Amino acid sequence: MFLLFGLRSKDHPMGARVMTCEVCGWKAPQHLLRRTTRFTLFFIPLFPVKPAAHYVVCGHCQAFRKADPRLVAA
Ligand SMILES: [Zn+2]
Repeated sequence: MFLLFGLRSKDHPMGARVMTCEVCGWKAPQHLLRRTTRFTLFFIPLFPVKPAAHYVVCGHCQAFRKADPRLVAA
């Protein structure tokens, strides 16, 4: 008998807001993502293994960076 287990991360879009990018300096849509990581058993996600993390992706330069907590709360 064997067990097939692992971790799986998934990004959930939370909307976009037009702001100035910290990386490229353009005023472009900044997409907010919530990333969750779950324990999987036989490829079935069962439960989260760590708190969700929030990231921002620039619509112009595709820079991927951690979100400011103030942006997540708004
Ligand atoms: Zn940018």
